[in-house]
Amino acid sequence: MCIDVHCHIDQLSTEEQKRELKTYRAVGAAVHYQSGETLLRLQKQYPETVKVCLGIHPEYPDFFHEYSLVEKQIRENRDSIAGIGEIGLPYFNLVNMNTEERSKAQKKAGELFEKFVRLAAELDFPVNLHCVEDTVPQGIEVLKRYGIKKALFHWFEGDEKNIKQIKEAGWNISVSPDLIGNADYRASIKTIAADIREIFTLESDGPWEYEGERGTPSMTERTAPVLAEILHMTKQEIIVIANRNAEKLFG
Ligand SMILES: [Zn+2]
Repeated sequence: MCIDVHCHIDQLSTEEQKRELKTYRAVGAAVHYQSGETLLRLQKQYPETVKVCLGIHPEYPDFFHEYSLVEKQIRENRDSIAGIGEIGLPYFNLVNMNTEERSKAQKKAGELFEKFVRLAAELDFPVNLHCVEDTVPQGIEVLKRYGIKKALFHWFEGDEKNIKQIKEAGWNISVSPDLIGNADYRASIKTIAADIREIFTLESDGPWEYEGERGTPSMTERTAPVLAEILHMTKQEIIVIANRNAEKLFG
């Protein structure tokens, strides 16, 4: 059975939580303070299968002001949480902005990201990252500057140079169920196949939808055979490697 290393399980319905979390192991990534509170409650409810990362999602600027609150939440729960996340740098939010708006938003989000990374370094926590598309190099630079040892680049589809740096630093990436139905994503994973063999994990990013179907932890089970074909491995080998990396990251 696969471990889902990046899922917004607090956003799943109670039915979905019941169905999935009884059997599937998942790392919940908070998007803001309240989201983190719900995840902490879910962890109490499903202690065998749920792990929690606390943070503020970089594409949610309306919640950036909660930093102190979330920092306190992290410190108070440091013995029961698995990491800091979802943190990172905005990309999708910036697409429709003009140059001035964009540089302002980048500055604000960059400062918040550094605060979280500094905290992760201080508390020796892994980071569950949203650093996608062309924000990956900046993410790598900040992590290196703070000496972060454990990091997960979720839904990584970046280029060959970036993946080499991620691999050399001992960090990990996660592959999403988009692999099942998106030929472009499959092609991009194929180009970096040689470099991800040892460092991949699986995620659902649920409840993000894939061709109309809500993402849930069990969907990683269907991603595994598709990745197996790309990496010329068996489904079982994929699950073993993915889970070993997940446990190395989040315990
Ligand atoms: Zn996410």
